[in-house]
Amino acid sequence: MEEHRARKRFGQNFLVDGNIIRKIVAAIDPKPDQAMVEIGPGLGAMTRPLTERLDRLHVIEIDRDLAQRLREGELADKLVIHEQDALKFDFSELAGTLGTALRVVGNLPYNISSPLLFHLAEHAEQVCDMTFMLQKEVVDRIVAAPDTEAYGRLSVMLQYRFECSHLFDVPPGAFRPMPKVMSAIVRLKPRSPAQLDARDPLLMSAIVKAAFGQRRKTLRNTLREWLAQTDWDVLGIDASRRGETLDLADYVRIANHVATRG
Ligand code: SAM
Repeated sequence: MEEHRARKRFGQNFLVDGNIIRKIVAAIDPKPDQAMVEIGPGLGAMTRPLTERLDRLHVIEIDRDLAQRLREGELADKLVIHEQDALKFDFSELAGTLGTALRVVGNLPYNISSPLLFHLAEHAEQVCDMTFMLQKEVVDRIVAAPDTEAYGRLSVMLQYRFECSHLFDVPPGAFRPMPKVMSAIVRLKPRSPAQLDARDPLLMSAIVKAAFGQRRKTLRNTLREWLAQTDWDVLGIDASRRGETLDLADYVRIANHVATRG
């Protein structure tokens, strides 16, 4: 087959390091009958070892040429190819069709990683776990604790929905073409519904977005649409603090206060 020229607009950096690929697949630990979806299979670096361990693998690939290669390639019998934008893919519908929660994996296109993670968070109820390669800087943001530079909206919203763990780092030399930055593997496991204690998740999401929208501003300013001084008094939170000093439980408490106060 003709050589594929990597397309920058689709964030194409292909894994070429066999040891790293083995390490990622070992971390995923696929079992034959599991319902697994790989986002962005590309030239199949992870797809091949995954299909060796699975009866069937769903793959979502936006690049027409790469999807065509997979259709014509030797892995085709094991694959269900969705030639589609993962940002628009209905993961819940697939889980419904398969009758089971999904394991989602992939070396994600870095240019769309944040919107893709927010999209996946909406389908968390239909997900068993997710293991992704991302830019290390994004993984640092996902697992960040309050009062650190990396801590932000992505940390709060993903940690609310998932238990997030940084597994290991991957250097640029593992890819062709080489990215300019370090990468890392992250595992996201949905929390049980009992742990999701925000009464109005959309309200919490809006509050978190506003609190981190202008990082230099105080909570009094960024959240004035929802909270007055009397509310801060009831909550026992100093309104002159900044959003980055609050932890996940604080955000849940604030959102629940606004939701129940009416
Ligand atoms: N899995 C391969 C590997 O590890 O070598 C390729 C990884 S590459 C970083 C990202 C892959 O995601 C590419 O194959 C790219 O075409 C695909 N991709 C980019 N944007 C996408 C989108 N919105 N939906 C689905 N796939 C996408």
